[in-house]
Amino acid sequence: MNKQALLDQIAADIVNHHVCPDLAKQATQLVFGDGDPDADLLFIGEAPGKKEDEQGMPFVGASGKFLAEMLKSIHLTRSQVYITNIVKYRPPANRDPSPDEKKEFLPYLIRQIRIIKPKLIVTLGRHSGMQFLPDLLISRDHGHPKRVTMNYEVKSMKNRESNPSILHTSDSILRAVVLPLYHPAAALYNGGQRQTLIDDFAIIPTILEKIRNNK
Ligand code: URA
Repeated sequence: MNKQALLDQIAADIVNHHVCPDLAKQATQLVFGDGDPDADLLFIGEAPGKKEDEQGMPFVGASGKFLAEMLKSIHLTRSQVYITNIVKYRPPANRDPSPDEKKEFLPYLIRQIRIIKPKLIVTLGRHSGMQFLPDLLISRDHGHPKRVTMNYEVKSMKNRESNPSILHTSDSILRAVVLPLYHPAAALYNGGQRQTLIDDFAIIPTILEKIRNNK
């Protein structure tokens, strides 16, 4: 199976495994991800907002427009990177995703990362950053890439309605370089953070080059 087919299978699993049924019920649709499955750069936001929920695509509202501008500043377009969120249904009234919601979606996010195999994961916002860097202090750590080794138990649940038990468990290690950045939405309304985010974005090509050259 090619990468896109494998990603489509994860999206189908999220629906079929009834992940976060309360969120799913009130959302228009699943917002799984967008871009090049072979991308070196993977951007991970928090959860879809209103526009994303309507269009079924991540980062298509105001913060998406800002993200596209910052990508352009480093000579990239959306179609050259991959963009997703930790939680893939819109939380009501744009509230923060809950710890349980983040936990439920995590195995699917890990599967998504394993298929894409990005060279660099750029997390947008505190929630996304803390999935990979639990001690993250965004005001201190933004713009500093970290090599992380995560030992995840990836649990895939099949047919949860009829059988709530976990049918398959495998221990797995995920190695990645993670660059935590401020969230574009927060930066849009805070002039200082906005410039910091733009400055942090500017170093992405250098970080990628170092990773590619194994430095
Ligand atoms: N904010 C996010 O974190 N993700 C989106 O897709 C849109 C806004």
